[in-house]
Amino acid sequence: MPYQRRPDFLPFTRPMVGEEEIAEIIDTIHSGWITTGPKSAAFEEKLKAYNGVPHCLVMNSATTAQEITMQVLEIQPGDEVITTSLTWVSTLSTVVLQGGVPVLVDIDPVTLNIDPAKLEAAITPRTKGIIPVHLTGLPCPMDEIWRIAEKHGLWVIEDAAQAMGAHYKGTKIGGNPRSIMSVYSFHPNKNMTTGEGGAIAFFNGDYESRIKRLRFHGIDRDAWKRFAKEGSPHTEVYEPARKANFMDLQAAMGLHQIDKLDGFNARRGVLFHRYLELMKDLDEVMLPWPGDADHGHCYHLFVLRIHPEKVGLDRDAFVAALKEENIGTGIHYRPAHIHPWYRDFYAAHPAHLPKDGLPHSEWSGERLLSLPLWPGLGEADQDQVVAAIRRVIAHAKVASRIIL
Ligand SMILES: *Cc1c(COP(=O)(O)O)cnc(C)c1O
Repeated sequence: MPYQRRPDFLPFTRPMVGEEEIAEIIDTIHSGWITTGPKSAAFEEKLKAYNGVPHCLVMNSATTAQEITMQVLEIQPGDEVITTSLTWVSTLSTVVLQGGVPVLVDIDPVTLNIDPAKLEAAITPRTKGIIPVHLTGLPCPMDEIWRIAEKHGLWVIEDAAQAMGAHYKGTKIGGNPRSIMSVYSFHPNKNMTTGEGGAIAFFNGDYESRIKRLRFHGIDRDAWKRFAKEGSPHTEVYEPARKANFMDLQAAMGLHQIDKLDGFNARRGVLFHRYLELMKDLDEVMLPWPGDADHGHCYHLFVLRIHPEKVGLDRDAFVAALKEENIGTGIHYRPAHIHPWYRDFYAAHPAHLPKDGLPHSEWSGERLLSLPLWPGLGEADQDQVVAAIRRVIAHAKVASRIIL
């Protein structure tokens, strides 16, 4: 069939919110209680059961959740936390906001995740912990990370923002007590959403009351009970804190999204493997690793890397050409150390980068783009994405031959 440009724009992702969520939101409004309350508590119970963790507290975003983990673990000015550059900047910013220093190590170019072989060289007497990021929904090699952390007395916090439903060696991400805490995100782009939202999962119950305080004004009682019959009208503030609570309006979505998550992820997996099959002959692009039994992918993102010298376009031009074909893509991510603030910071403090730099993070960061992937994407949409990619490559080759 001759190529035809898609008439309407195809976004790279779209949230899957159905009638159950809508009915629950309406029920929440009718109940007279729309902010933090019984539905938020019920959602926390579902998250614990799903991930196999004894404690899980929800709040307004994963970014706030990450900030609170730094506060609870009492990061002091100058304390070092090791992570990767190929992540959303909040992984680093939340360390900086608490006065800490994000120390960067390079990624494994196959997985885009932290390379455990590079970890030990980054450890100093000031290192407190490691934040591995399960980028694209592909679990990091946790056994190696935990082994090194335990050997050096460091904590591990998993950035599981993209990893709801992913599993490592048979355990859900966040469900292994060798990590002190794990953080999930329910932003609309993630595999399940509450509009905005995040959560901290953890095993040590001693953190529970502090995290509750830090998410809500420094008060650690369930505030909504103040308004119920059994509540006392008095509150006590134990420390100054932000307001980052989660609304029952959000929980109304989460209660149904989590029931649908395995179905969503199964469909994402089908589409992910279908992309691999549809593009297996294309040597102008690098296809992502789909994980294996130990590294159970939740297929959050399908990240393609292009070979600009074979395509005849750089990544930004390739993305622009796909947009002309009405195909939306995302960039996950520009390496954090390239952003102006971090560029200046590491220029002033080069000891917090590896001696040989971050060549794999930079190489991939310049070449990657995320293709449309969400459970409602149809096979015909996917065929159109791949046809547009082939067309862009073919045109770029013709154009580069003309220029030569
Ligand atoms: C989305 C994301 C975050 C931030 O999540 P929010 O809920 O939007 O604050 C942090 N880290 C990674 C890797 C993410 O993908």
